[in-house]
Amino acid sequence: MKIGVLGAGQLGRMMAISGYPLNHQFGFSGQTNKESSALLGHMFASEDNPDHIESLVAFADVITYESENTDVEMVREINKDIPVYPGEKSLFTAQHRGREKALFNQLNIPCAPYQVINSITDLEQALTYIGLPAILKTATEGYDGKGQFLIRSADQIKAAFESMKGAESILEGFVNFKRELSLIAVRGIDNDHKYYPLVENIHHNGILRLTIAPAQDIDPRVQKTAEHYMQTLLDEMNHVGVLTIELFDTENGLVVNEKAPRVHNSGHWSIDGANTSQFENHIRAISGMPLGDTTSIHNYSAMINIIGRTGPIQIALNMPNAHLHLYDKAERENRKLGHINITADSLSELEHSIQQLKDFLPN
Ligand code: AMP
Repeated sequence: MKIGVLGAGQLGRMMAISGYPLNHQFGFSGQTNKESSALLGHMFASEDNPDHIESLVAFADVITYESENTDVEMVREINKDIPVYPGEKSLFTAQHRGREKALFNQLNIPCAPYQVINSITDLEQALTYIGLPAILKTATEGYDGKGQFLIRSADQIKAAFESMKGAESILEGFVNFKRELSLIAVRGIDNDHKYYPLVENIHHNGILRLTIAPAQDIDPRVQKTAEHYMQTLLDEMNHVGVLTIELFDTENGLVVNEKAPRVHNSGHWSIDGANTSQFENHIRAISGMPLGDTTSIHNYSAMINIIGRTGPIQIALNMPNAHLHLYDKAERENRKLGHINITADSLSELEHSIQQLKDFLPN
């Protein structure tokens, strides 16, 4: 099949790497011919073709996207001609934190209390309902912790409101969590569902730095609960492909933070750590193939992001249980340039290996 990807970043790149052995071909849309995916398929770049989206659609049998900020109107138009997966509803709800939380509430999926904010009066009223501390977030286009303001005291209300620069926002109750988790799942065109194990994610300055797979000390009932929330979402949205939910692990159980209608950074470990990676499963799903086994191959895996500068990658290349994945990107502050996957059969081996790669981690 010819698979068209809206976007040409590292996620599309890794989809193509996993999809070629299945005999698929890939095309990407982007701004320039120098993007991460460019050398892995037909590149339809706006810099040399104003009709690059039409050209991508003409090339493809099926379309997918690698960002939740993909234009929904464009997806609707394309969908009149060829299928677009994961689909319009998954995209639409993921683009607005208010819509997303409303969906969680409708499906009885626990999430932080929230209110949509359009004025300072809205914010004052919402704070009396939600209480302090609370987090004000832009309703759209926030990522990696950007567009957020933690309000600890009432004298910060004006500063918080002004930091949104007039954009619609939502106020969320602060969740006292023990740790952050995510669940990745895939749903096929035939309604088959498969789930990866819950993983633990460690962030620094809002950017994911380390994922441990599976998350340690997870009661099987907690995994089942997370899968239940996931299944409810997948079915409600008629989602085809990979879906990710980010969760807070709290004293009172799981609280869902947000969802991403796509392959996710916290699933990169699965390339080397699971029988079928999230990328291959996404491609299998959208091309109508049977889903692959999501079981881990090793007892433990970890993923360390390479952020900002490439760093001492020879260390990883000299480790028998480390796997380097670079995205063909120039160094830039806070940019995701690649990641290193580690596989291990004991916790001490995992910890020792992470220690060997400490130059890639903050502090
Ligand atoms: P988000 O962009 O919603 O993923 O938020 C980025 C990070 O901010 C999360 O990974 C959490 O560490 C933190 N965060 C977001 N929402 C909340 C919340 N309601 N309570 C506590 N921490 C939060």
